[in-house]
Amino acid sequence: MTASKNSALTQETVITVHHWNDTLFSFTTTRGDALRFQSGQFVMIGLEIEGRPLLRAYSIVSPHYEEHLEFYSIKVPNGPLTSRLQHLQVGDTVLVGRKPTGTLLKDNLRPGRNLYLFSSGTGLAPFMSIVRDPDYYEAYEHIVLIHGVRLVSELGYYDEIKSALPMHEYLGDAVQKKLRYFPTVTREAFAQQGRITDLLEAGAIERQFDLPPLDPLHDRVMVCGNPSVLVDLVAILQARGFDEGSMQKQGSYVIERAFVEK
Ligand SMILES: Cc1cc2nc3c(=O)[nH]c(=O)nc-3n(C[C@H](O)[C@H](O)[C@H](O)COP(=O)(O)OP(=O)(O)OC[C@H]3O[C@@H](n4cnc5c(N)ncnc54)[C@H](O)[C@@H]3O)c2cc1C
Repeated sequence: MTASKNSALTQETVITVHHWNDTLFSFTTTRGDALRFQSGQFVMIGLEIEGRPLLRAYSIVSPHYEEHLEFYSIKVPNGPLTSRLQHLQVGDTVLVGRKPTGTLLKDNLRPGRNLYLFSSGTGLAPFMSIVRDPDYYEAYEHIVLIHGVRLVSELGYYDEIKSALPMHEYLGDAVQKKLRYFPTVTREAFAQQGRITDLLEAGAIERQFDLPPLDPLHDRVMVCGNPSVLVDLVAILQARGFDEGSMQKQGSYVIERAFVEK
């Protein structure tokens, strides 16, 4: 079945494209009226290649109320989709699935005090949606966004988080009061350095913001990162008594893989 006749997909038009560096880019598209999603979810997106859809899972960067859709993408050398997707131009067509899904949802967590969002690389994507969702500022005293990358140029959305969000027309006040941002770089000099696992173990993140030590009774955690970081972070969280949440049962942390190692 050609992609244009596939009822599980809609065809959206690219509105903007922004290249952060040689390995990362973002783009926005139109959003079909029927697409409903919750901040933090992912959806299948892709391109029609030789009459067939080539699809991959992508977290939605834009919040649920936004008119357009936004995505944050890696450029994998020779990657079947991203070697093509990175050449997107304004006006091109992108295929978008009709069924967003995912575990990074407030409802999968018991109510709590502070929400910690741990991301590595493109794992930031679902959290950009969440930090632009007013419901999260109502639900938590603080939202702490941790983003671990290798190089400074991989800190996508840095200016947006640091400068634009605190001035946002509707969210600005809540962001200034509640959002705490902890970007960290491993392979270059930067204000904050080190692996997010080491920083978590050392309690460095809470200390930086004068917050009480992470506690499974009060605090909630979402993790989205590369598979090995995820395994290490989950081991640390479980050793501290955090339990995993899901659609079936609320917990104190939830996880999503930022990609699958092939
Ligand atoms: C739930 C979920 C959500 C995802 N959300 C995003 C997203 O928001 N943005 C995004 O860029 N990708 C995301 N991915 C990964 C995405 O689905 C594709 O793997 C990616 O677009 C590369 O596609 P490809 O066909 O070019 O290469 P693939 O054949 O899919 O991947 C080839 C290899 O590239 C590496 N790789 C793939 N994706 C990444 C990545 N994001 N960061 C670092 N290395 C990677 C892995 O080693 C993988 O084995 C997500 C994956 C899952 C499972």
